[in-house]
This record gives sequence, C-alpha cells and structure tokens, in this order.
Amino acid sequence: MMVEKVPSSSLAMQSPARIDRRSELARARGDSSLRRLDRVTTTPEVLQVANQFATELPELSLPWQAEEAPDPRVLVLNKSLAVELGIDPETLRGEDGARLLAGNLVPAGATPVAQAYAGHQFGGYSPRLGDGRALLIGELTDRDGRLRDLHLKGSGRTPFSRGADGRAAIGPMLREYVISEAMHALGVPTTRSLAVVATGRQVRRETDLPGAVLARVASSHLRVGSFQYVAASGDVDLLRRLADHAIGRHHPEAATAENPPLALLEAVATSQADLVARWMLVGFVHGVMNTDNMTISGETIDYGPCAFMEAFDPATVYSSIDTGGRYAYGNQPLVAEWNLARFAETLLPLIADDQDRAVELATQALGTFRSRYGAAYATGLLAKMGFASGPDDAVAVDLGEQLLVLLRESHVDWTSGFRALGAAARGDAELFRGLFVDLPGIDAWLHRWRDHGPDADLMDRTNPVYVPRNHLVEEALDAATAGDLAPVHELLAAVQHPFDERPGLERFAEPAPQDFGRYTTYCGT
Ligand code: AMP
Ligand code: MG
Repeated sequence: MMVEKVPSSSLAMQSPARIDRRSELARARGDSSLRRLDRVTTTPEVLQVANQFATELPELSLPWQAEEAPDPRVLVLNKSLAVELGIDPETLRGEDGARLLAGNLVPAGATPVAQAYAGHQFGGYSPRLGDGRALLIGELTDRDGRLRDLHLKGSGRTPFSRGADGRAAIGPMLREYVISEAMHALGVPTTRSLAVVATGRQVRRETDLPGAVLARVASSHLRVGSFQYVAASGDVDLLRRLADHAIGRHHPEAATAENPPLALLEAVATSQADLVARWMLVGFVHGVMNTDNMTISGETIDYGPCAFMEAFDPATVYSSIDTGGRYAYGNQPLVAEWNLARFAETLLPLIADDQDRAVELATQALGTFRSRYGAAYATGLLAKMGFASGPDDAVAVDLGEQLLVLLRESHVDWTSGFRALGAAARGDAELFRGLFVDLPGIDAWLHRWRDHGPDADLMDRTNPVYVPRNHLVEEALDAATAGDLAPVHELLAAVQHPFDERPGLERFAEPAPQDFGRYTTYCGT
C-alpha cells in the first residue's frame, strides 16, 4: 500500500487552499428554503449536553438548526441506550421527547452544528461533503464517564446539502436502527441508534414516503474525511489541533508516544483491522466504504446500502451503485487499507518535518494493518470452528482454509452454516452435511475437524443464530412505511439476542426463500 507525498487524489490541487466558510454560510442563509428557526432549549434537568467539538474545532462545523417537523412522533426508542446515556427514557417518551429527538427542541447548553468533511467516494475525491442532512447536537457523558455524540440524521437541509433535500424516509432510518443494534449485539463496534422519529412530513423519493429523523449516538463523528478536509486547507496548526482532539477522545495512549501523530495512525489502523475482521466474520457487507464513512474511533458508521451475506462468496455485492464491486464482501480489508493510506497522507506534515522520512514512517505504521487484520480474522474464524487457539495453530488454520473453499463451492449460507457446524460438534452432523454437494469432501473435512477437538460451547457463543436477514429487513421496513411497526419490533427482538436460540423464531434463522431473488440495496435514500 503506497503512501504518497503528493496523494493520488492531489488534494491540494483540487480544493481551494481555504474554504471561506463565513461567506458560504451567508450565501446559504440567503437561500429562502434554509430558514433558521429560533432555538428553543430544554432546562438542564431534562437534558444537557456539551459542545466540545463545536468549541474546540470551530473551523470544522457550522452552527445550524433542524428543520421544523410538523408532527414529530417517536416510532422506536432504545430505552436501554437512553439509560446508558443517563437520559430518563420517560423524558424521551414524554411530551417534548419527540421534539427533542427531531431537533426542534434543543438540550440545554447545545449549539447544534453541521460538520464539515471531505472524502473519497468510490475512489474519487470530493473536497467538500459535510453533514448535508445531519446535525451534531452535542456530547453527553454516559454512565461510564465516556463522551458520546448525540447526532440527528434526516434533520433538514444545511449548507452542505449540495442541492439535496436534507431529509430521510422512515425506511432507511429504521434500517440503520435495526442493523446497527444487531451489530452491537453481535459484538461489532458501531454507532448506536437511540430513536427514530417520524416527522409528519412526506419526503419525495421515487414516490412520496413518510419522513423521519434518526437519533444516533457515536463515540464521535470524526472520520478519515475530517482529516482530509483539514489537510486540503493546508492549515497545519488546525491539523495538529484535530489530531490532538482525536487522540484525546479515542486513542489517549498516543499522547505519550514518542511520535503522537504516528501513534494515532497505528491506533486507527489497529482498530480498523479489528473492526473489518469482525465484519467479515459475521458476513457484513458495508456497501459504501468511502473515506467519509470510516471513523477514527473504529466504530462502524453509516448504514446505507449494507447487507448481510447469505451464500458465502467473496464477490458478494448488494449496492445498486457498486457496479465494479469495489466494496464487495471480500474486498473490504483491502479497501480499509486503501482508506488508511489516505488517512496516513493527511498526517504526513505532523509525522516529520522531512516529508520523505514521514512517508517512510507512515508506510511502516500502515504495515500493522495487514498483520493485525490477518491475526484477528484467523483467530475469529478458528473460534467459529470451535478452536480457542490462535493463528499459529497450523492444523486449525488449514482446516479453516479448506472449509472456506467447501462453503463457497456449495453456496452455503454463512450464518446458518456455522450454526449447523455447532450442532455437528454436539454429534448431529446431518443438517451440516446436507448443505454440501461434495459429500466425500465435507466428510473428510469433518473427520479431521473432529480429531482436532472442537468446543461446541465456544461455537454457540461465537456463531449467531439471528442476523438481520435481507428479506426480513425489507418486509419489516415495508410494513413500517405502511404504518405497521410490529414486524420491526419482532425483528429487533430476534437480532438483539443473536446467540440465544429461541423456539418460535425459526423464520429469523433461515436464509431468504429462493423467490426473494437477487438482493439489491440503494443508498442516499
Ligand atoms: P452517505 O452516503 O450517507 O454517507 O452520504 C454522503 C454525503 O451525501 C454526505 O455528505 C451526506 O450528508 C449527503 N447526503 C446524503 N443524502 C442526503 C440528502 N437527502 N440531503 C442532503 N445531503 C445528503
Ligand atoms: Mg456518510
């Protein structure tokens, strides 16, 4: 992976040296469709937030307000997350809760902002993206003393909307809610979903759809694209402040390292290696791994055209716009590494004065991604097969490689296939054998695998029964759009306890029926 002194995207050449955000804001305010509302705040007893990002890095955001929702109503509320954040769920359920979650009522102390960032989208660089339909309300301190962003998505136009409507429909917002909560329950680091509120306004898409706002919680919304935005401005002092902010918030151990920016790069590479390994192990396809959708914290962010793979195939793609398969399941580790190289490029001016030396150090640091990813993936795959050993268990690693070949040849469903292997570890191999066309091949494999002593309990703790199956997600979102939330709640109940097999939930454990056909997802919706 190449780190380039003059990045392939030629950041400095493509973007103006500095973006004059004051005049940008003035222009945006002149647009009559972007009326600023008078801010109405709660009392501190109801909810209070901090403005650390807005005040420490004012160059990276614009104070802004949500569009008025005519009739806000809470559709789903994450009570346990509210409690974790120190918010009384009854407050959110109460009279002002929906207004608060739609952004029309602002917590005490809040200065909501639209964040600025840049990003490579499908490999092409955009110097200015930013929150086109989202606002950072502020930061909360959770029960464990950690700072968490409270952020709204679908809250109306901002100066970063680039001609789009700033809105979201309830389907895609509920989709983010369901899938992010499923990921959390699967043990995958992710932004969380606090609530989805219907706005009471129709949103124009291919048809008119009911609009919604998602209240999202994240350990921060700093992205690779945040660094790209600052690097493009050429303002090294601002870059240093951003790096210090990111270190303080996510990787504090880097502050005392010999070279803190380099240690930050290593820490981000490590957390992304662990994250992407987890995606691969649960069969998650993100679908739009642009650099603006890659966090500095190592949390999964932006559930757009994502989906869970069923039949195992590294070439699996769901997104309608990913025609080249850039973000296919099997490409995700490589794309993460590519994105990290773009991140590394932004840090070069901080890593060393001598830019050749900086490139050398950054390239070395990036090298940690491959080895860390390889070890995390191998350890995880071994656990899925019932082995608690690590990547130096050569027999287990060989068994893993062979199993992947067999799974692929027979188009075995990733999730239920491993669960069936768990049953085989308990002595009943028939369900598992029945998934393969090459019976002598899988029998020989099973023989060697049993000889290596798989642990059935480890497998049941590691291999989920329930993931948000694409056909069930679609079914639930269609029902919700038509006004029936029951299927969303049923799906949530299944995926929030993914390892705990329960009678009556069989349909949530099965792959899509044949007639569901090839699945396609759409983003920006
Ligand atoms: P995403 O693909 O969701 O990561 O979004 C990429 C960029 O498009 C971000 O800058 C978003 O804020 C912006 N965007 C997506 N949908 C809309 C919309 N309906 N209105 C305004 N901006 C949007
Ligand atoms: Mg995004």
